[in-house]
Amino acid sequence: MCAINGIFYKRHYMNNSIFSFPTPANEPVKSYLAGSPERIAIDAELKRQSKTVIEIPLIIGGKEVKTGNMGNVVEPHNHKHVLARYHKASEKEVKMAVDAALAAHKMWAETPWTTRAAILLKAADLIAGKYRALINASCMLGQSKNMFQAEIDSACELIDFLRYNAAYASEIYAMQPKCAAGQLNSMEYRPLEGFILAVTPFNFTSIASNLNMTPVLMGNTTVWKPSTTALLSNYYIMKVFMEAGLPAGVVNFVPGPGSVIGKVACASPDLAGIHFTGSTATFKGLWKTVGMNIDKYKTYPRLVGETGGKDFIFVHKSADPEVVANAAFCGAFEFAGQKCSAASRMYCPKSLWPKVLKGMKERCAKVKVGDVTDPENFVNAVIDEPSFDNIAKAIAYAKRSKDAEVVIGGQCDKSVGYFIQPTVILAKKPNFKTMEEELFGPVLTVYVYDDKDLDKTLELCDTTSPYGLTGSVFGQDRLACDYITDKLRYCAGNFYINDKPTGAVVGLQPFGGSRASGTNDKAGSAFNLLRWVTTRAIKETLVPPVNWKYTYMK
Ligand code: NAD
Repeated sequence: MCAINGIFYKRHYMNNSIFSFPTPANEPVKSYLAGSPERIAIDAELKRQSKTVIEIPLIIGGKEVKTGNMGNVVEPHNHKHVLARYHKASEKEVKMAVDAALAAHKMWAETPWTTRAAILLKAADLIAGKYRALINASCMLGQSKNMFQAEIDSACELIDFLRYNAAYASEIYAMQPKCAAGQLNSMEYRPLEGFILAVTPFNFTSIASNLNMTPVLMGNTTVWKPSTTALLSNYYIMKVFMEAGLPAGVVNFVPGPGSVIGKVACASPDLAGIHFTGSTATFKGLWKTVGMNIDKYKTYPRLVGETGGKDFIFVHKSADPEVVANAAFCGAFEFAGQKCSAASRMYCPKSLWPKVLKGMKERCAKVKVGDVTDPENFVNAVIDEPSFDNIAKAIAYAKRSKDAEVVIGGQCDKSVGYFIQPTVILAKKPNFKTMEEELFGPVLTVYVYDDKDLDKTLELCDTTSPYGLTGSVFGQDRLACDYITDKLRYCAGNFYINDKPTGAVVGLQPFGGSRASGTNDKAGSAFNLLRWVTTRAIKETLVPPVNWKYTYMK
């Protein structure tokens, strides 16, 4: 027997089937054409959510917890518009969440993995169906994504993570050692001992779900620190998990200040792992805190983090400039450049630059920037005021500098929403500040190199920034692309040939980078699931020996 919230469940239900979930198809991206059922549904939902101010509590051990210490969730594109009021956790509630996660651990670890998968697959179906408009509209309004960007994130990618992970788990559990004569061997994939701290970013609702649900599928329980600027969609997905049948305490939703939550959770001797996506600085801070506490822990915490990037496009002289202009435009400016994979630096040969610039100027002249509810707007707001100020400061710096020139855009206006026009900076020096540092906005910096300096420029691309997340090479000379791909081997965990460096799809391009970009545990692949189990090898001897002598001693 085992108790959850005082209710006793009979355990050891044995389903003796050897079950495997097939590899799913990726969730189709809906078109949202005017008059389509999905468009009618999302328009209605946007109207409804725009008129409501909801209250977001903490959810600990399956129960709503209200602290009365409140904050606002606003629309980045209309920052006076409040969408929700949320309760902030203090140290006390973080400790409660840790206790709740630990209390649910045994029950969840002993729940058959197929039952765990069934709950996650149900959540995927609920989001693919009746909650698609609700979740997408909350992502649009709360995180300032247009319809398409919300659809590929909070619907498709989120659903894909849930469905693919069931298939990956099937493969992992089926990985078993050989049984030699007279012995039985097996590998048991145990969840980690303790709880997982899931710290999630603002920019992808799918990642917020996945950082919890991957460990959860493998039998772990989590304390979830959602991003304050993604709370609306994150709260709704938490509700969907519960409706799908996730038992109390398996995921504990704790909005509030990161510093408090990180400090308290990392001080627990039962911290078994951190599943993080966000900035390099925050992850390094968490890693240091874990280091300081290392003597306290019952087990070495697994640290899995996907962090910042300074993603590049490297153009070979054989490239088609029109293709490059389009990829640079989409790669740098979609979702206002706030994808971790967004193109933010480009190396372009002198012979092609005039045509590439012309192509980008033509596109930027047509692009509209504004509110997410107007489908004409390709670019929406950046997430909040600190982010806006940081980007505006970098653009102002480039305008003042003799080492750079703003050749496209550069206008910033935060009077209504945090709007930044798609901006291209031409750097006269390859180490200009915006060629090196991550800038989470619609800003691309370009360094134009002499066509004959290919090797020197490849070296620059490799060494200019500390990151190693995504990168692209463009060229019609396929052998030259191979050469560049080889030279830039460690520059990116996700590398593209003749494609923009964004848009990885679950199951097709497992995602993650190394160097300062993370531990490269590849979200959307079995590699990531393996971080959330600790294996036990079991050998059974069928007829144990009784004779201790070596054969030659007889
Ligand atoms: P962030 O680091 O500001 O915040 C991430 C999360 O950490 C948030 O929930 C935040 O509240 C929390 N946090 C902040 N300080 C904390 C602390 N001291 N202890 C515990 N938690 C704390 O990042 P962000 O602005 O939400 O996201 C943008 C960043 O994420 C960019 O750098 C981007 O490149 C990166 N990112 C990377 C990937 C990837 O796969 N590599 C994917 C998405 C985003």
